[in-house]
Amino acid sequence: MTKRRTRPTTTSSTPRTTRTDQRRAEEQARIEAFTLSVQDLFAHYREHGCPCRFPRFRATAARDTKEVSAPGFTTFEHQAVVTLFDEKVPLRDRVGFSGGHEGDCVACGSHVRRWGDELFRGAFLEHLVITPAKDLADLGAPLHGPVPHAWPFYFVGPEDHGNGRPLVEAAYPGVALEDWFAWMRELAAT
Ligand SMILES: [Zn+2]
Repeated sequence: MTKRRTRPTTTSSTPRTTRTDQRRAEEQARIEAFTLSVQDLFAHYREHGCPCRFPRFRATAARDTKEVSAPGFTTFEHQAVVTLFDEKVPLRDRVGFSGGHEGDCVACGSHVRRWGDELFRGAFLEHLVITPAKDLADLGAPLHGPVPHAWPFYFVGPEDHGNGRPLVEAAYPGVALEDWFAWMRELAAT
């Protein structure tokens, strides 16, 4: 009996490509789910007032890793909440300055300072510092410790020349994304 020759398979590189495509698709799905959830977070703030009145939002927006001697690091959720604030929170008495603007929140009167640092060609680190209006009551729960992060820290620039990553990872606790959203949404006890 003649042994039938099987054709050599030509698909040896396919599994690797498929795995890469699958990883990309999963990452894309994760980003899309995150985008919807962060929109929902802002809807939650608007339902109660505005993000300025949530201490955890203010602390997250204002987080600057230079406070732990590792400037230039940020996370996806940090940059997302800062840029979404521009879209969702109107300001009055707005004035521009080099690299940013400032003004007062129309809803609550808190002072908003917003700017971007171009740390590398076209790569910006976005900043938002909210100073609550005098006697404004907080709507969100207090901070209780360091600002957690959900997405991994990344360095805005071609490479981190120091040993910044261990410093930021030690300073800010990493939490699951759903826990981060729950933490950001929590209301002050009444
Ligand atoms: Zn406000």
